[in-house]
Amino acid sequence: MQPFDSKIQKVIRKFSYPVWFVHRDSKTLCTCVNFATKQPNQHCKKCLGTGRKIYIKKIQAARQPFRLSITGESLSSEYNVYTSYYTLNDVNAAPYDLFIDGNEVDVIQDRYDERSNSSESVYYRYLVAPKKQNKELFLKMFYSIIGGDR
Ligand SMILES: [Zn+2]
Repeated sequence: MQPFDSKIQKVIRKFSYPVWFVHRDSKTLCTCVNFATKQPNQHCKKCLGTGRKIYIKKIQAARQPFRLSITGESLSSEYNVYTSYYTLNDVNAAPYDLFIDGNEVDVIQDRYDERSNSSESVYYRYLVAPKKQNKELFLKMFYSIIGGDR
């Protein structure tokens, strides 16, 4: 491992905190998926409306929103363009898996296994987008399943 790599890991470790990770088993359909329409029931507490068997885990991750400020003559706004998560351990995430951090629900778009010259992974990066559909319903069901507060 290169000295630079261990510095990056140190930074990720420093900014990491526990977040929830929901992995969807892409091969196992939930019983709520409608046979004809292939649509899951958004109120299903078994799959949280994802339509797949899910596994819930608490993991250590660092969340980094990337903001873009646009300042014009009459407006000044900040937009969340995209957010990345970083982990030191491989959590075996795949696209459509979710991270839950308080009231934020982020859907994984892409996962990057970051390596330098060495063959071993230095860290993992996940590009995410905020869940837009049924976010409140999802959060309500999620926190009732884990029996905790946000
Ligand atoms: Zn279901």
